[in-house]
Amino acid sequence: MDIEPLRAFEDNYIWLITRDDTDACAVVDPGDEEPVISVLEKRDLRLTSILVTHKHYDHTGGIDALKKRYPGVEVFGPGNESISQISRSVEDHQQISLPGMNLDFEVLSIPGHTEGHVAYLGNGVLFCGDTLFAGGCGRVFTGTFEQMSASLDRIRKLPPETQLYCAHEYTQANVGFGLWVEPQSEVLKQRQQSVEAAVEQAIPTVPSSLQQELDTNPFLRVEQQNVISAAEQWAGRPLNNNAEVFTALRRWKDRDYD
Ligand SMILES: [Zn+2]
Repeated sequence: MDIEPLRAFEDNYIWLITRDDTDACAVVDPGDEEPVISVLEKRDLRLTSILVTHKHYDHTGGIDALKKRYPGVEVFGPGNESISQISRSVEDHQQISLPGMNLDFEVLSIPGHTEGHVAYLGNGVLFCGDTLFAGGCGRVFTGTFEQMSASLDRIRKLPPETQLYCAHEYTQANVGFGLWVEPQSEVLKQRQQSVEAAVEQAIPTVPSSLQQELDTNPFLRVEQQNVISAAEQWAGRPLNNNAEVFTALRRWKDRDYD
């Protein structure tokens, strides 16, 4: 299995999944059809599946045109969000198989950014949409802070070697906020340097490994004493559990950093 980024809009990634033993392929979160069609035409690939993580337009805007162009393409997505183009509604723990590709993924329900957000886990990778970003996490829009905290706790427990494919290139800004939370972290300072170098050369900073996130992403480090202390200092009160620490970190970033 190969996974490549197709850039869309300002900073979105549409992930293209291919295999060298078939012309069938899949894309994740096609907010725009143009980058997808252009690479599929060039390489004579046939789109058999679309994986959708959540309802936002920058993840779904290309689906109608892709369905028209590739009739029969299956569109997998969460059944409890309003995404009219879904042909295969998915739910938590469901196993899905990508048509013509002999690749299986498990659906993880990870609400918070939206009420029905899902991720796709399998073959050593996680497509996590706008829930977990490299160095950060998505905003809480139509889900709740408690949901988002539980979803991040769930991702935290996956195998640390899991490769995380999120949907935006936000890493540089995220790492900057991480250094607000943990200004002494040497490993975070190193990450900042390597991210800056990559961005300068227009090299994607995604995917990252879960281990790297566990070491440097404040939103996955809500059980670390120094992260708890920083969040408590910002909140001005004691924080008693992961959800409270997460909520303080997220509000801190929303209000003071972004
Ligand atoms: Zn979104």
